[in-house]
Amino acid sequence: MTGFQGDEAGEALTASLNQVQPVVLTEWSVAVGDGRQVEQLLDGGDVIGAHFPPYLDPMHHRRVPAAFVVGVVTWGGTMARPRTPKGRAMQTAARLAVEYPGTAKELCALQHENPFQLLVATILSAQSTDVRVNMVTPALFARFSTPEDLAVADPGEVEKLVASTGFFRAKTRSVIGMAAAVVERYGGQVPVAIEDLVTLPGVGRKTANVIRSVDFDAPGLPVDTHVLRLSRLLGLTTNTDPEKVEADLTAMLPAREWGGFSLRLILHGRRVCIARRPRCEECVLADFCPSSRVPTIHRSNLAGPKRARLNRKGD
Ligand code: SF4
Repeated sequence: MTGFQGDEAGEALTASLNQVQPVVLTEWSVAVGDGRQVEQLLDGGDVIGAHFPPYLDPMHHRRVPAAFVVGVVTWGGTMARPRTPKGRAMQTAARLAVEYPGTAKELCALQHENPFQLLVATILSAQSTDVRVNMVTPALFARFSTPEDLAVADPGEVEKLVASTGFFRAKTRSVIGMAAAVVERYGGQVPVAIEDLVTLPGVGRKTANVIRSVDFDAPGLPVDTHVLRLSRLLGLTTNTDPEKVEADLTAMLPAREWGGFSLRLILHGRRVCIARRPRCEECVLADFCPSSRVPTIHRSNLAGPKRARLNRKGD
């Protein structure tokens, strides 16, 4: 985090805003001298929301030392804080695209060279980690490089190769069955249509959407545990059924963004919005996330008696 001291905070922030208008999607962390300085930033017209660590409430700590670091989230003066699920979804997509840039293919952590290998890797990733899967797939793909090879593989040999990913017997049945179905019904080519993909053994909507969005550049929004959890925390959906969550999210975002949005939510869920210990203080979505644990003041919240009281105290 970058820290600024005293009066420099306002100047640095103003300069930054001038550089990045009209859309500012970055979190600044500045040290401010007191609540009035924050007020001045808010009154500047461009700063819409300010966030404070739980221990620092500007309403009650008017003279905090400049060394205190206060996170100030800003964005363009023409943009309003999103108040609807669709607005929050769009803002989430925009900000996470800055945090985690790249296409769905670039963001996908499962190593693979073609849709068939990605199908195998995604099936193996259930109840496991991408890192673990990437440790076993090189040997698996070296031994069985095509659907035709894997379709006639000895299950015992495959089990040994994928054992460390867990549930290896069921996964072995799925990958061999999937390979056989791809050979028998689709001539050895992984199908693109989701209706076809979900008929393959071991392939549900989540896996099908991974393949579509990552390797076929087709619309697909995989809903895994992170996507479901963050979507609810961010107030994008109230559903708990992955298929309904997928329907809610896809209705709010352009189809070209579905795959990247899902992968970015997954990255954010792993790195920042960690289950049971979300790091809201570091989260670029904290200013509008309904589940944020960071106290927020908002310009509109400062109107009326509270604002007058704050101004009087600052005289
Ligand atoms: S503000 Fe907190 S709860 Fe909301 S998305 Fe960020 S880390 Fe998760």
